[in-house]
Amino acid sequence: MPKISVCDLNVNNRRVLVRVDFNVPTEEKDGRVRITDDTRIRETLPTIQYLVGKGAKVVLMAHFGRPKGQPVPKYSLEPVAERLAELLEIPVQFSPECIGASVEHRVDALKPGDVLLLENMRFHAEEEKNDAAFSQALARLGDVYVNDAFGAAHRAHASTAGVAAHLSETATGLLMEKELKYLHGELADPAKPFLVILGGSKVSDKIGVIKALMEKANTFLIGGAMAYTFYRAQGIATGNSRVEADKTDLAVELLELAKKKGVKFLLPVDNIETLEIKAGTTTARNTGRLSPGHGITDGYEAVDIGKETIELYKKEIATAKTVLWNGPVGIFEIPDFANGTFSLARALAESDATTIIGGGDSVTAVKQAGLGDAMTFISTGGGASLELLEGKVLPGVAALAEQDA
Ligand code: ADP
Ligand code: MG
Repeated sequence: MPKISVCDLNVNNRRVLVRVDFNVPTEEKDGRVRITDDTRIRETLPTIQYLVGKGAKVVLMAHFGRPKGQPVPKYSLEPVAERLAELLEIPVQFSPECIGASVEHRVDALKPGDVLLLENMRFHAEEEKNDAAFSQALARLGDVYVNDAFGAAHRAHASTAGVAAHLSETATGLLMEKELKYLHGELADPAKPFLVILGGSKVSDKIGVIKALMEKANTFLIGGAMAYTFYRAQGIATGNSRVEADKTDLAVELLELAKKKGVKFLLPVDNIETLEIKAGTTTARNTGRLSPGHGITDGYEAVDIGKETIELYKKEIATAKTVLWNGPVGIFEIPDFANGTFSLARALAESDATTIIGGGDSVTAVKQAGLGDAMTFISTGGGASLELLEGKVLPGVAALAEQDA
């Protein structure tokens, strides 16, 4: 059953308690915290603006960093309140407390259209423990609960899940709906051919995703360090490449599963290998076509897919109707090893397929290539998107009410 949407609720003149994901990357400069990427704040604007427009009293809850259950000044959400106010172009109040009498008074004083951000939920250890009393204390601040924090929905915490049990009206926010639409709805019955590009550092991180998607995908394009565990499993020399030696049996199992299901499971046919992991190295070179008799050179580490592989993968992308990408295919953080990842990003940008990007580093890579706007959908949730793709139920979604049949 679809969930009740924020748009289904009467919010006028009511206190709407909204969980958002404001866990943004920051840097400290001259003693001040600066937000380096405000995407997650921007992505929440539609829900907040909708509520403001409907005359709701908006109370925002969020977490920031890992303060481990106590107040840590550098993890205060106050700079986020300032940035949010700039983006909304209306004042945003900030409460240094998130439960108790003082914040309850503040909430009582809110007028329709006002926005109040509460201090970091994780300043209280009860948040991550999903403590019932803490959830109840949060619930006193709202008449209605809306969860728009997709990026935190895989955690069963007080503000992401527990609080919902104490309020009679609950709903999804607009960002949450968009994430579920693409990562769940669209991929439940994807237009075919359905192509999955998987990369990143470890095959062990992605086992659940590979197994779940094996049921639906026509083709897998494998890259990143995880490719070399598959090489090892097939007796191809891996040099100094990152390999999970204890996962080779699993790699064999996955290759056999693909064969049994008639799923194309492509590994890089050539790679960039290098002696040093640094920009401007003179030791990076192409391996040439790999085979059990010809692998990654001793002492060298594979850091990107090679030219021939890029061409092969681009051909596959060109025929796909749906593409899901999770995990960069090389160490793209170093420009010398970013060519594979950026080339595939360009191929996706040029394709007419529905293109969905999930996973923290893959999203960073696509944006660094300047191609964020060319994709159909870019997820704001790393861990949450992986768990959803694995077919898991997200606690932050399960806690919300469904529409009547
Ligand atoms: P995502 O966040 O998109 O799910 P992961 O966290 O699984 O992706 O992996 C991202 C990391 O994988 C990047 O930091 C990248 O440098 C690394 N990586 C990609 N290819 C390689 C490789 N060949 N060797 C080592 N690390 C790699
Ligand atoms: Mg990552």
